[in-house]
Amino acid sequence: MPNTEDLRPNEMRVIACGTGMPTQRLAQAAACFLVELGNGDKFIFDIGSGAAERLSALQIPYDFLDKIFIGHLHGDHFGSIGEMFIGGMIMGRHVPLRIWGPSGPTPQLGTKYAIEKMKEMYTWDVAGRVGMTDTRGFALEVQEFDYKGVNQVVYQKNGVTIRSWPALHAIDGPVSYSLEWKGLKFVFSSDTYPNKWFVEHAKNADLAIHECFIAVPSLVTKMGFTPEAALQVGTQIHTAPEAFGKVMSTIKPRHAVAYHFFKDFDTTAQVYERIRTTYDGPLSLAEDFMVWNVTKEGVRERMAIVEEHTWAPPLASPAIPPKMEDRKAESERLGWEIGYTDFIAGGKLDYRDVIEPIYEEASKAVGRELKYPEND
Ligand SMILES: [Zn+2]
Ligand SMILES: [Zn+2]
Repeated sequence: MPNTEDLRPNEMRVIACGTGMPTQRLAQAAACFLVELGNGDKFIFDIGSGAAERLSALQIPYDFLDKIFIGHLHGDHFGSIGEMFIGGMIMGRHVPLRIWGPSGPTPQLGTKYAIEKMKEMYTWDVAGRVGMTDTRGFALEVQEFDYKGVNQVVYQKNGVTIRSWPALHAIDGPVSYSLEWKGLKFVFSSDTYPNKWFVEHAKNADLAIHECFIAVPSLVTKMGFTPEAALQVGTQIHTAPEAFGKVMSTIKPRHAVAYHFFKDFDTTAQVYERIRTTYDGPLSLAEDFMVWNVTKEGVRERMAIVEEHTWAPPLASPAIPPKMEDRKAESERLGWEIGYTDFIAGGKLDYRDVIEPIYEEASKAVGRELKYPEND
């Protein structure tokens, strides 16, 4: 259960917060893996659609969920970034959201472009919140690195080294990652067809997470794909289960994790049996909230038990009260004074008789005067 297990100083814990496919389903969010280290550091690898709710169920202060590494810019690998930006701020992130991701063959195909446009998409959202709550978390920092870099260091701090190398998926741009810390190695493919860089640089992994797509027959029967499309998507764009097994037999990780398929009673056996034609080592077929504790001694797989009706987790840093002056910079940027025009303000009903007592009640509760806004 979240917040009930302290990590030992040399322990790594990985939690699957999304293991599904590019399409939406309640039981499985799209790609997202949280890596937590015994030194307190936390890293998110991919943040696919639906993953933000899973992360919220873990009740981790949002100041600690500020580092996201994106493998590629398919929606099922970064579709929850907006929820982390907006919702994460409302739930207590007082620091910028930091995003690492690959460049592309053109600037428009890179991570920086995607995040800048995402921020533009939220222009009204941000304007409508400044001055209302503690909005220090409304800041984005993007570190874009060369997608062609081979085993290049993209992050190094606090004894943690994160590297990237190219992945082979759809078109140029995608990458895979490794994270090394205290002699432990985590690798994450994001999406890729089996490639030479992965088998070279994922060697000696303690936990190797690689995509493994649903078997071709299921793509036809469950998704309505034509056989041609099923073969193309299931074996050429992605890694087929048999190919996943071959990758793992080559790198021989201490523990292999397959993700990127809908794990049902009638699909799991097919994926499992196909993997087992080419790989006989330790294996997890991932599902949401599967947890791996990794130490030198061993890898332990369990399921997290989470609460669905969660609220904001505890704050890691105190919130500051909002000030209307905070709107100034945003107003200047937009060339329009943020607020209501006289026309819209004129639609307000005078409900002061029922709202003013709420201010009086709150003042009594906190022992200081909280004033009903006079200019209202
Ligand atoms: Zn993809
Ligand atoms: Zn994908």
